[in-house]
Amino acid sequence: AAEEGFDVEDVEGAIEEAGHGPLPVLAVIGRPNVGKSTLVNRIIGRREAVVEDRPGVTRDRVTYEAEWSGRRFKLVDTGGWEQDVLGIDASVAAQAEYAIEAADAVVFVVDATVGATDTDEAVVRLLRKAGKPVVLCANKVDGPSGEADATALWALGLGEPHPVSALHGRGTGDMLDAVLEALPEAPEQTFGTAIGGPRRIALIGRPNVGKSSLLNKVANEDRVVVNEMAGTTRDPVDELIELGGVVWKFVDTAGIRKRVHLQQGADYYASLRTAAAVEKAEVAVILIDASETISVQDQRIVTMAVEAGRAIVVAYNKWDTLDGERRYYLEREIETELAQVAWAPRVNVSAATGRHMEKLVPAIETALAGWETRVPTGRLNAFLGEIVASHPHPVRGGKQPRILFGTQAGTKPPRFVFFASGFIEAGYRRFLERRLREEFGFEGTPIHISVRVRE
Ligand code: GDP
Ligand code: GDP
Repeated sequence: AAEEGFDVEDVEGAIEEAGHGPLPVLAVIGRPNVGKSTLVNRIIGRREAVVEDRPGVTRDRVTYEAEWSGRRFKLVDTGGWEQDVLGIDASVAAQAEYAIEAADAVVFVVDATVGATDTDEAVVRLLRKAGKPVVLCANKVDGPSGEADATALWALGLGEPHPVSALHGRGTGDMLDAVLEALPEAPEQTFGTAIGGPRRIALIGRPNVGKSSLLNKVANEDRVVVNEMAGTTRDPVDELIELGGVVWKFVDTAGIRKRVHLQQGADYYASLRTAAAVEKAEVAVILIDASETISVQDQRIVTMAVEAGRAIVVAYNKWDTLDGERRYYLEREIETELAQVAWAPRVNVSAATGRHMEKLVPAIETALAGWETRVPTGRLNAFLGEIVASHPHPVRGGKQPRILFGTQAGTKPPRFVFFASGFIEAGYRRFLERRLREEFGFEGTPIHISVRVRE
């Protein structure tokens, strides 16, 4: 590394940073208008400016990556929430319940200028029941005169209220320090299961694609729903189902079975629910209704799973209803609308007839194998050397940026760091990803490539 102009420490630092495992999840919850979105924007602020150049990615989402004091975590934003027909208490409760389920720790935002309301008290009861670490944010304390309002929130019984002005940034640093103390290093959700425990599957897809039908079908087929298994923490929303001779944990199935019919804001709840399931899972089985045009909502769900870095299988359901014409158009739609997961194993199923159910498990196993693939450094560099020789980066401003060497910093999903002599363009990065896939497989998994440029 040294002769290529990189400092050994730089290289090691880059590898460590790129190699992080799944990030812990922080949810920001609270009533409407207390300042959740303002706070989320303040926390993610700079990082969101760094958007990856990837086509087909919809920016509308509920989870973000954030960083404080060198520690990275995921932030679940519940600011997109709307009050629904059930009234304010029920909707705040539902929102909080979903967010808490997905999170390793919670920031509960209260408007200190208003004080604790009945709705806030109701959320406190939910938080107590969930038992997750909570940081109480007394927001809208824009100056010293508001401190007394914050102090009054001790009465909620959640410990120290942190006086904050999300709008001006006052106090957010101290609050984030408290958040880091509350957050586990690695997500409990992901590592909570003992090693060797069942693999975790999230069955996701927009409403009516057939999630509940599929779940019933696979659960009934084998009928072996194991309750007591060594090394598993039994979560009432998860279900252990034996498929193809192996026990799998389907996470968050309560959200699939218990049909929550909310009118306004239903899409938003569905997104939050999906995000929660994806966070808890290793592999996402994305169900698409093959009988209908692939929609923006389908794409959003796909994006969510890709961005979360999960292994992915795409299952086209309701295959029993397809005629020749629909099949023709479906293939065209898959090519144009779902290009971002062209690498995912695909199964064409029918939850109604049971068609191709037996293909689900091999597809899941393929995706998980891709997700865990590790390429030895020697092989990777031999491959990079060949590529650089046969397909060099275009010359820019009289210079030719070169990939000098690379290493795989982590798995689940595979993460690579390449070290380069100059700025590597997005087009060339995509080319590298394509060639990496051709060479090493990575079926069913997103891969991350970060490029470090020599100073
Ligand atoms: P949300 O519904 O909880 O996401 O709340 P928003 O973030 O949309 O904020 C609601 C309103 O409160 C907006 O008008 C914000 O500008 C305002 N607001 C948020 N944080 C602060 C703050 O720290 N101080 C003051 N004075 N206003 C704030
Ligand atoms: P969910 O909202 O994703 O859980 O979807 P459901 O499982 O409730 O299914 C929505 C509708 O699609 C129901 O009327 C199901 O009977 C129907 N459905 C689900 N899977 C299939 C399938 O494979 N073929 C057909 N023809 N209908 C299906």
